[in-house]
Amino acid sequence: MSELELLQLGQPLLRRKAKPVSDIHSDRCRQIIELLTEQVIQRQGMGIAATQLGFDQQIFIMCSHPNDRYPDAPEMPITTVINPQILSSSEHQISDWEGCLSIPGLRAKVSRPQSIEVAYTLQDGTKVQTRYDGFLARLFQHEYDHLQGLLFIDRVSSTDDMMTEKVWQQQYASRSRNTAIEGTQHGAAL
Ligand SMILES: [Zn+2]
Repeated sequence: MSELELLQLGQPLLRRKAKPVSDIHSDRCRQIIELLTEQVIQRQGMGIAATQLGFDQQIFIMCSHPNDRYPDAPEMPITTVINPQILSSSEHQISDWEGCLSIPGLRAKVSRPQSIEVAYTLQDGTKVQTRYDGFLARLFQHEYDHLQGLLFIDRVSSTDDMMTEKVWQQQYASRSRNTAIEGTQHGAAL
């Protein structure tokens, strides 16, 4: 199971729009969540979306946690987000660096609303309505985009805001404020 391949930029399924999950208690839903959880833990990511594994279902995992490369990432329990909605977004936008497990080796600066009001369903059926700010708002929006077939590079306003992982590491990794999304401690796969 751990050999499952993550879709990468250029593979058409990554651009497919996910459908709402109709039965969150189905075996299929449970299996997708298991696979996503396994992959995000194995790759030490901060999040992963079902479309990255080729499933067209509106499910993603958020699991922000501080590590060597992301010391300021907030700690959160592994959270399964099903059928997410963004109810409102702040006018104020923040620009910061992102990476993606599906686009290894690339970092880019992306401007996104600083805070968002969201609604989604948890794996046990609990409906959640909450607000995310800063890093978690960015993470949520990055994963939400995946379910629309969008990637962070689609939101880059200038190619000057892109750099390779290696150069990014040299220039930014040692800074204390580091908000890359979906990164790993090893830097090989983002
Ligand atoms: Zn991603």
